[in-house]
Amino acid sequence: MIDFDKVRAEFPILDQQVHGRPLVYLDSAATAQKPQCVIDAESEFYRTINAGVHRGAHELAARSTMAFEDARSKVARLVGANAAEGEEEVVVTSGATAGLNLLATAFGNASLGRGGAAAARFALKPGDEIVVSKAEHHSVLLPFQELAARTGATFKWLDLDDEGRVRVDEAREVITERTKVVAVTHVANVTGAITDIAPLVSRAHEVGAVFVLDACQSVPHLAVDFHALDVDFAAWSAHKMYGPTGVGFLYGKRELLEALPPANFGGSMVELAWMDQPAQYMVPPARFEAGTQPVAQVVAAGVAADWMMDIGLGNIEAHERQIAAELLKIGDIDGVRVLGPRENAGRIGTVAFDVAGVHPHDVGQFIDAQGIAIRVGHHCAQPVHRHFGIYASNRASSGVYNSVEGARALVEALGKVRAFFGA
Ligand code: PMP
Repeated sequence: MIDFDKVRAEFPILDQQVHGRPLVYLDSAATAQKPQCVIDAESEFYRTINAGVHRGAHELAARSTMAFEDARSKVARLVGANAAEGEEEVVVTSGATAGLNLLATAFGNASLGRGGAAAARFALKPGDEIVVSKAEHHSVLLPFQELAARTGATFKWLDLDDEGRVRVDEAREVITERTKVVAVTHVANVTGAITDIAPLVSRAHEVGAVFVLDACQSVPHLAVDFHALDVDFAAWSAHKMYGPTGVGFLYGKRELLEALPPANFGGSMVELAWMDQPAQYMVPPARFEAGTQPVAQVVAAGVAADWMMDIGLGNIEAHERQIAAELLKIGDIDGVRVLGPRENAGRIGTVAFDVAGVHPHDVGQFIDAQGIAIRVGHHCAQPVHRHFGIYASNRASSGVYNSVEGARALVEALGKVRAFFGA
């Protein structure tokens, strides 16, 4: 178990009143709060090391490069990826959205013949298929929908069951011999449901497709091992795993990263550039890291990864399962429907709900007045809401710093919402 009081005390932002009440932050699926060690890591970097990486012969540049690569290793360790020099499997991006767009753009470039024969496995043409699920965040849905539009590939999806779980039983039917890319969320940001990805990964591989995992909502809450899951690529953001904004990561199996053509072009990703000949690009991860990198943020993300591993990923999961159990009581309130599995097993502490007869914004404001922060809107997942027959919802989502009492305060406040608005 975690030493809750100690963990909680590491988050300075939580020690404040909002509208005269102690802050209860239940919006970690949007962004997690940062422990002091992460906040300090960023400013310490600027105070003592700041320099560009992978260039310059001076001492600060060497230290900066070392800190950057060390952070990459820490993040790789968190997700079971290779980190040894020459075998790196983690690419720095500016966030999950950027990582997913990088992949879609690279697959598009492969479809134009870029990257030669090695990249042909990523190439799409009319008649090929891209498969996602209806649970996807727009950051998966849109890049791959656009890729389908650019290449003429057919865009398909796995449906959801009544509680919003991805219908993995449809895998054999939807993922076919023509499927080239399968991109599915590990944990859905609306329903909190953990996708049983094993049958999807094995079916994708059976037909020779690459499997892309959206790990945004799993890495912060669960012990995730990309090698064990056998996914080909995975994207996630540092800011949801207690790290800084503006940085994220893209995992790729080493042999696939080596075969993948670049998506962004510029400095620090090229071995040789000429006026009259094609450039010769670097090996991964540099090939995918054009331009000056967010070094301070990456270093702080490495500290966040270590911080999570120090607490213990199993301990984080066990603690948040208690919060989820409390949040799921939202579904017992008269006129309130949970948009996701009611069972605590197979989900995380992200609980979206619909209050009959009260607009989600009114619910959000009523709850905010109690000092409790929850999310309001469609959470960048409109098809999921359509699946439930609504346009928007409210969402409470946990972090390791949430207490059972805080979750209970939300449930109690929600119990009064409908009467307050005369619904
Ligand atoms: N996928 C999921 C499941 C998410 O929850 C989010 C963030 N809301 C994203 C992708 C995109 O992450 P970011 O905005 O950090 O790029």
